[in-house]
Amino acid sequence: MKSEIHSGWGLHPRIETRVVRARQADQLVDGHPDASLLIQGARRSYGDACLADRVISTQLLGHLLEFDAERGLIRCEAGITLDVLIAFIAPRGFFLPVTPGTKFPTIGGCVAADVHGKNHHKEGSIGFFVEEIELFLADRSRVCCSREERSELFWATIGGMGLTGAIYAVTLRLKKVENTYMRTRTLKTRNFDELCRHFEETQQEYTYSVAWIDSLANGAHLGRGSLILGEHATADQAPTSKRFKLHSTGGPSVPFFFPSATLNGLTMRLFNTLVYHRQIRQQRDATVHYDPYFYPLDFVRHWNRIYGKRGFLQYQFAVPFDGGRTLMGDILQRIAQRGVASFLTVLKTLGQESGGLLSFPIPGYTLALDIPLRDPSVISFLQDITRLVVRAGGRIYLAKDAILQRADFEAMYPRLPEFKRVKRACDPHNRFRSLQSERLGLT
Ligand SMILES: Cc1cc2nc3c(=O)[nH]c(=O)nc-3n(C[C@H](O)[C@H](O)[C@H](O)COP(=O)(O)OP(=O)(O)OC[C@H]3O[C@@H](n4cnc5c(N)ncnc54)[C@H](O)[C@@H]3O)c2cc1C
Repeated sequence: MKSEIHSGWGLHPRIETRVVRARQADQLVDGHPDASLLIQGARRSYGDACLADRVISTQLLGHLLEFDAERGLIRCEAGITLDVLIAFIAPRGFFLPVTPGTKFPTIGGCVAADVHGKNHHKEGSIGFFVEEIELFLADRSRVCCSREERSELFWATIGGMGLTGAIYAVTLRLKKVENTYMRTRTLKTRNFDELCRHFEETQQEYTYSVAWIDSLANGAHLGRGSLILGEHATADQAPTSKRFKLHSTGGPSVPFFFPSATLNGLTMRLFNTLVYHRQIRQQRDATVHYDPYFYPLDFVRHWNRIYGKRGFLQYQFAVPFDGGRTLMGDILQRIAQRGVASFLTVLKTLGQESGGLLSFPIPGYTLALDIPLRDPSVISFLQDITRLVVRAGGRIYLAKDAILQRADFEAMYPRLPEFKRVKRACDPHNRFRSLQSERLGLT
């Protein structure tokens, strides 16, 4: 086993870890029944969910196994990344039914986190579209699970953060599209109330929606931002010469870690103000390629390095619609007052739960903030905010988390006892562990 220094996308925490890259399915779980392990995808989760002192990576298990164009089904190995999957399905008239805001995670990692996209309010998380999971359990037995077969294991694995077993392959139902373009409408809003009102008015109409918030604006401008709505373009709306154009791979890369002082209150305020004023009109309509629409951050490789070596926390919570708007306004105000600058703040709405026992989305709002880790006291500040989220019936997203405390976690995931029961049945010696699962007592 090789030793490497690993972190999630937020660059915090970093640990030394022993890594094996599985080359075939039966190497996903090794033959040391007493040794703990964690399956690792592309390490695009932000915190410590993908970290452990002993990991088996799916990086080399990235093959397509079957494709049924008639039924819109694809079966692939867990280590395939979304960009490779899209490169295969898009020219054939299909797209991912759900995609996170980056195309570099693996499909196994996406199922393990039950990821949501900009269409959650209408179409749900990826768990809604998973037909079957092929899994290696702690005792190295290979099993299939689905809604019909071993359904408890299926729903514990979707959103189960790799703690039930090693996902080897996933069968996914795809979305039919007519081209690789999106019709978008961007609405500029003056404050948080206006932003939420626009959200509520457009939810039924648009499949995709996401808002960017200038979290450094204060007073009358608190929560100002842009709501970006989208639909897959129909055949007559796409540029005719290139209906199925794929993204280009080459963008700039951040070659080294920026000094930690680069992102200070001033530079972040400047960035957010520039983004806000980039659009002059209140409303702008456009036809754009899927790549800048779904994956604007992917354009700059290693953009996380601008936070410096100390890294950053992504703090993402969901709150129910009832009372959620007031609570989010309150949280934004506390953040602005404390001078905790969030470089990038994103708001989405969420619809129905998938059935995943530890899945994050609940009907309501979700707010995600990127907070540089210059001052460690920001951790206790966010832990205090978490208590407000718990009291409101909300929860923290495990795929982004590095600081959640066990008591808060237990209070926010009501199906945790069911999850633990399935985990104990399929992994009685708690072989599958992460730094996060140990912190949260997820055994
Ligand atoms: C820029 C950016 C934008 C993002 N936007 C969104 C978003 O909009 N919505 C959203 O939901 N998420 C979003 N994410 C988070 C990301 O989609 C998830 O964290 C996803 O789980 C990462 O997948 P990965 O392959 O990198 O897995 P890793 O980060 O390596 O692992 C994540 C978890 O999955 C488990 N896992 C991975 N592979 C397997 C496997 N084969 N079998 C069993 N368990 C496995 C790991 O053990 C770990 O617990 C974003 C991340 C980034 C960096």
